[in-house]
Amino acid sequence: MALGSDQSDGAALDRDLAGLLEVETFDPPAAFREHALLNDPAVYEQAARDPQAWWVAQAEQLEWFQPWERVLDDDDPPFYKWFVGGKLNASYNCLDRHVLAGRGDRVALHWRGEEGQERDITYAELLAEVQRFANALKDLGVGKGDVVGIYLPMIPEVVISMLACARIGAPHNVVFGGFSAEAVRERMEFSEAKLLITTDGAARKGKTAPIKDRVDEVMGDLATLQKIVVVRSKGTPCQMKEGRDVFYDEIVATADPDCPAEPLDSEHPLYILYTSGSTAKPKGILHTTGGYLTGVSATHRYVFDLKPDSDVYWCAADVGWVTGHSYIVYGPLCNGATSVMWEGAPDYPHKGIWWELIERYGITILYCAPTAIRACMKWGADWPNKHDLSSLRVLGTVGEPINPKAWLWYHKVIGSERCPIVDTWWQTETGAIMITPLPGITATKPGSATHPFPGVFAEVLDESTGEPVTEGQGLLVLTRPCPSMLRTLYKEPERFLQTYFSRFGRDTYLVGDAARRDSDGYIWVIGRIDDVVNVSGHRLSTAEVESAIVAHPDVAEAAVIGEHDEDTGQAIVAFVTLQGDLAGDEQTVEGIRATVADRIGKFARPKRIIWSDDLPKTRSGKIMRRLLRDIAEGRALGDVTTLRDPAVTAQLEERVKELRAAED
Ligand code: ATP
Ligand code: MG
Repeated sequence: MALGSDQSDGAALDRDLAGLLEVETFDPPAAFREHALLNDPAVYEQAARDPQAWWVAQAEQLEWFQPWERVLDDDDPPFYKWFVGGKLNASYNCLDRHVLAGRGDRVALHWRGEEGQERDITYAELLAEVQRFANALKDLGVGKGDVVGIYLPMIPEVVISMLACARIGAPHNVVFGGFSAEAVRERMEFSEAKLLITTDGAARKGKTAPIKDRVDEVMGDLATLQKIVVVRSKGTPCQMKEGRDVFYDEIVATADPDCPAEPLDSEHPLYILYTSGSTAKPKGILHTTGGYLTGVSATHRYVFDLKPDSDVYWCAADVGWVTGHSYIVYGPLCNGATSVMWEGAPDYPHKGIWWELIERYGITILYCAPTAIRACMKWGADWPNKHDLSSLRVLGTVGEPINPKAWLWYHKVIGSERCPIVDTWWQTETGAIMITPLPGITATKPGSATHPFPGVFAEVLDESTGEPVTEGQGLLVLTRPCPSMLRTLYKEPERFLQTYFSRFGRDTYLVGDAARRDSDGYIWVIGRIDDVVNVSGHRLSTAEVESAIVAHPDVAEAAVIGEHDEDTGQAIVAFVTLQGDLAGDEQTVEGIRATVADRIGKFARPKRIIWSDDLPKTRSGKIMRRLLRDIAEGRALGDVTTLRDPAVTAQLEERVKELRAAED
């Protein structure tokens, strides 16, 4: 397909994208397919015929200290157990076995600090550091089964801490560094963490935020928390409480260098992690060892077509999210990959930093969130165009549905139409990628996560009959046990059953997302169940309407909610952010309404458009539509602990009040 050559011209790019939107599918490039790890579609049938054999083949890629006796214990659904009787250790699989195989000199992490600092850490170095810190944790009284909290920014010590915990069988509970100290306290209290690993201060776009002192303000009276380990990272002065607080560097310096990895039960808890809170109060997801590692290593290998000898892989998420757990730490390290770890934001020191990093490290695989792609799109193609991105060969997205416009921008501007895009659908609960293209096999459609990964069974069920939908919309479910799935909600087994297994019974995991199956059998995840709007009997997904609105050339981002309406049952309200410094007027409103009418139908046109400088998002960058519903209906806001910027909701509440006053 012919594309305009001047990518820096925004209007020309929009014309190109409009042309591309007509193209329905993108085949894997022939050159890519030829060398892909998986390029024969028969893999899907093989895995479907005998899923247990497929997962066994994946589990056999790991090193086990003791083989399992039973692949799957499904006697008491949904409390499944995988690889029962087997013993292994996650940190051994991520470190020792690569070093023992002579790959100790390979760089595990190219760490890059906000101010350009660089630190390359090899597998051998990482192993040495993890062993020392694991011993130091033991010296502080941490034993197998004790929960350890981790509240650290994107510095190598966060990876070291997680692996040190895994080495001694202490489940970690990582709290994203952008959360407030109060959120940390709540999570430490609930999980009865014995020890917390944190830092003196964290870099935030050129400034340093004090961390330890903030932690002290809220943590003082927490009886269960016996020790706090402080990583001296930014030299921020902080108070140390006698008998409770110790510095990381001091305890590591005196610790024994040898700490053999503890052989742990396949079902030993590896970690607890709270969900991002888009729909409700965060849930404490519990993941165990054998099944989880099997899932993350297999998906990381095949979804990204990982060639550990030559690839440089970068997942631009934060370790504090499940994406970071599975695809910065456990998946890539298990597979012996070389990764990049970036400390900072995508717009500091400048809006082209991501593309500078890709050129600097020769990154071949990039995995990021649609929200980041939309931000880059808003900043313009000039930034990436300044850099040589020719090393890239696979592009991934995760976290939200990706609007076709953003998908195409990613495909063209970042991937030069050469790189397959893997739009990966999964959740904190699933632990690993569940629905995704395989880059050497799947013909992709912008906005569709396509098909379940081999060995995964997903269906779209009709909301009223519960029967599988062959074409059309319904509720997304997983119909068979899968090794990487959560085992329960930590200390809330009743909530676990209630949330996921009360709707269709104990064999069917209710995902909580609505999805559509198209005539080719492709799955389109269109958002959370609550994010479906019913206008005059037409059931619309918010994602679909948002994608139509974003297709308007002036629009950067949009969030849609349903509002009660006398005539139509529900009416659509759209919160819209325009490109750059554009200001919205009546003409823009009409333009947007026309674009939606064009792409979906007149009934889907937003009744109200509310201009927003920004949208309320979780700290992982997802739009919190439930807060928008509260705002539109003038209610008090629900749980806001995971909201990134409270100023955004305050501003929108003001604006809605003004609009209301003007309407009356
Ligand atoms: P909570 O469960 O607390 O409301 P959350 O669902 O946002 O928070 P996560 O587990 O981080 O927490 O996110 C998983 C959800 O993200 C999925 O259920 C889905 O709604 C959305 N999602 C993730 N990847 C994709 C994707 N590729 N396409 C569409 N939606 C996605
Ligand atoms: Mg969820």
